[in-house]
Amino acid sequence: MNKDPNINKAIRQHLEMDEFFTGGFTVRKSQAEQEQTEASGEAVNIQLELEKIADEVRQCHKCSLGSLRTNAVPGEGNPNARIVFVGEGPGADEDAQGRPFVGRAGQLLDRVIKACGLKRSDVFICNIIKCRPPDNRDPRPDEIISCLPYLQRQLELLNPEVIVALGAHAARTLLNTNKSIGQLRGQFHEYYAGLGRPPIKVMPTYHTAYLLRNYSDDNRRRVWEDMKKVLTELGLPVP
Ligand code: URA
Repeated sequence: MNKDPNINKAIRQHLEMDEFFTGGFTVRKSQAEQEQTEASGEAVNIQLELEKIADEVRQCHKCSLGSLRTNAVPGEGNPNARIVFVGEGPGADEDAQGRPFVGRAGQLLDRVIKACGLKRSDVFICNIIKCRPPDNRDPRPDEIISCLPYLQRQLELLNPEVIVALGAHAARTLLNTNKSIGQLRGQFHEYYAGLGRPPIKVMPTYHTAYLLRNYSDDNRRRVWEDMKKVLTELGLPVP
């Protein structure tokens, strides 16, 4: 993915155009306005808004994957999550169940989350694309462009403190770069979820599916080092 450098420009232009015509994905508030809204008891019902996005995803036919899926996989988790994990796209197990990271890569992700002293219900888990590409091929640029507004809206609503980008596809798409996961992982980057909002920290790390295929001590240690940085950033104890 993103071998063509124009893909990043195309994504940006598409999103800008989308926002221009719709007046924004959701009403955007400055930090001060957000605090005022919350204080006045008018906080947006994040869970309800996430469910609306999930319903749209389940009905989506913006790209050809819509007619190939068994189930769309919008994502799931805690609406107040401090950490959001973003993967690449559903595999066969996720397509069958309509839930993210439920196959072998998901079981390893569960173990990573547990090793961090957290539960799956503490975090939110989703993907760059919401429908399974046939034969688990890489998502195509046009599919990513069609699907990305759903993820953008989810991240804008969730507004987590840290996004963990699992693998090259997630990291490159969120960070608008063609760099390799090896170059990106291990340090925090920035993702802008909305105008007037402070950037969200992004920690790219190896995808758990890659880790399963390359289960070396070095790779496991690298993922653990990355997650320790996330925990430290959040002021959480490092087990
Ligand atoms: N791999 C992903 O990137 N996402 C899933 O949901 C499952 C496997």
